[in-house]
Amino acid sequence: MKLARVFGFSTDLAIDLGTANTCVYAPGRGIVLNEPSVVAYNTVHGRIEAVGSEAKDMIGRTPQGLVAIRPLRDGVIADFEAAERMLTDFIRKAHPRASWVRPRVIVGVPAEITQVERRAVRESTLRAKASEVFLVDEPVAAAVGAGLPITEPTGNMIVDIGGGTTDIAVVSLAGMVYSKSVRVAGNELDEAIIEFMKRSHGLLVGERTAEQIKIEIGSATPLDSPIYMEVRGRHIADGIPKSVRVSDDEIRGALKPTIDVLVQAVRDALERVPPELSADIYDRGVVLTGGGALLRNLDRRIAEDTQLPVQLAEDPLTSVVLGAGKMLTDLPLLQKLAA
Ligand code: ADP
Ligand code: MG
Repeated sequence: MKLARVFGFSTDLAIDLGTANTCVYAPGRGIVLNEPSVVAYNTVHGRIEAVGSEAKDMIGRTPQGLVAIRPLRDGVIADFEAAERMLTDFIRKAHPRASWVRPRVIVGVPAEITQVERRAVRESTLRAKASEVFLVDEPVAAAVGAGLPITEPTGNMIVDIGGGTTDIAVVSLAGMVYSKSVRVAGNELDEAIIEFMKRSHGLLVGERTAEQIKIEIGSATPLDSPIYMEVRGRHIADGIPKSVRVSDDEIRGALKPTIDVLVQAVRDALERVPPELSADIYDRGVVLTGGGALLRNLDRRIAEDTQLPVQLAEDPLTSVVLGAGKMLTDLPLLQKLAA
């Protein structure tokens, strides 16, 4: 068993069960799955029709009787049946030729989650055919994934901007000395864009389009040169499909109030950190992770507002799963960090 693990033949898995995306990592194989946390449910037949990418493609285009369910809300399981089914599917996909495998699984959970919510994650994962489940705090996993020296007595601040929540944490000596979760993150930015398109262009756009606009032309501070995007949606007055051109400048304005809230949360966190650790953070700065950190110039905006060095994790969408994966292959670290 020990040998197998050393050589990477282990069947163990690390899972980042996110509100927006789920990532699965297998030692020796790397990231074996990265799909939206979505399930398509058929209300007529009472069964789940599709999971992950396939299900997300159905959002907003689902025929009657088919609804898209997001099993997680704000980082915690909101729909048990859907979560369990999704996990079962994803674990099976991670071991395509070995349906009998019951892996040991390490799962990242938000820092501010209740005991009941923790138990829900553990039980859903066990039901999804895991043999053993370890839970690790996402900010700690993200810090390990981003390569921060978290077992040393220095404070490291991690800001994880996901779909539903932004989690701010200070990690030191393998533990969390501060954590705060705010329900302002990627989804809220998408909603701001939906509202803006309605108000300023009289155009109704869906969630997926709003997200595309954010990714393609969204930003937190002015860009060197303007960028534009043709956006299709339904014109409210005419009721017919229409296309309008929007600029980065307009979208930046639409996103600003939400980004202000997010930046304020980081500032609040900085004020609450114990003084010794404040000094560390002053030296080492803040690390941004999570998909929302990829918004153009968000790092620059946070740096300007906090006067601290801000660093974007190498791959913000996978820091949590990579960190959890690293723990799987480092038993002493796992024992220190997971519950
Ligand atoms: P979670 O951990 O909640 O599942 P993720 O860390 O996977 O969240 O991040 C998902 C969020 O990141 C979504 O809101 C998505 O729109 C956003 N996102 C992904 N890529 C980008 C990008 N390039 N620019 C801005 N936002 C992005
Ligand atoms: Mg996440």
